[in-house]
Amino acid sequence: MVMSQIELEGVASPEHQSDETDSEFEDRSILCIDCNHDFIWTVGEQVFFRDKQLLNPPKRCKDCKQAKNERLAAIAAAQASGIKQRIEVAVNCAECQESTTVPFYPSQGRPVYCRSCFIKSNPSVLNGSSTSHG
Ligand SMILES: [Zn+2]
Ligand SMILES: [Zn+2]
Repeated sequence: MVMSQIELEGVASPEHQSDETDSEFEDRSILCIDCNHDFIWTVGEQVFFRDKQLLNPPKRCKDCKQAKNERLAAIAAAQASGIKQRIEVAVNCAECQESTTVPFYPSQGRPVYCRSCFIKSNPSVLNGSSTSHG
């Protein structure tokens, strides 16, 4: 009787690595979509991506990523400051047909008045609080 020992090649022993460094990762070369240059996606960054459960590898090199972040920050800052600015919408007064601007976006179908016509139809805005209980 012959005991045939089967040589198992490349069988991974189910040992769990608790270390942060994984040998399954290796530096990868990725083509940046912005500058069309190869950049190295390092093992450390791949581990970081896996920890964050990010499925997609980076598309930009570090320089382009930073440039993009700065662009986004500039846009966000512009939007944030834009909200505080008063808006002016050009409209025609429904009463006297004069072109005027209002600090809001008028909803469709609702008449918009210039300031003088608005005060004419709403004289109470000049008196302040005119609530009287009687
Ligand atoms: Zn780039
Ligand atoms: Zn008017």
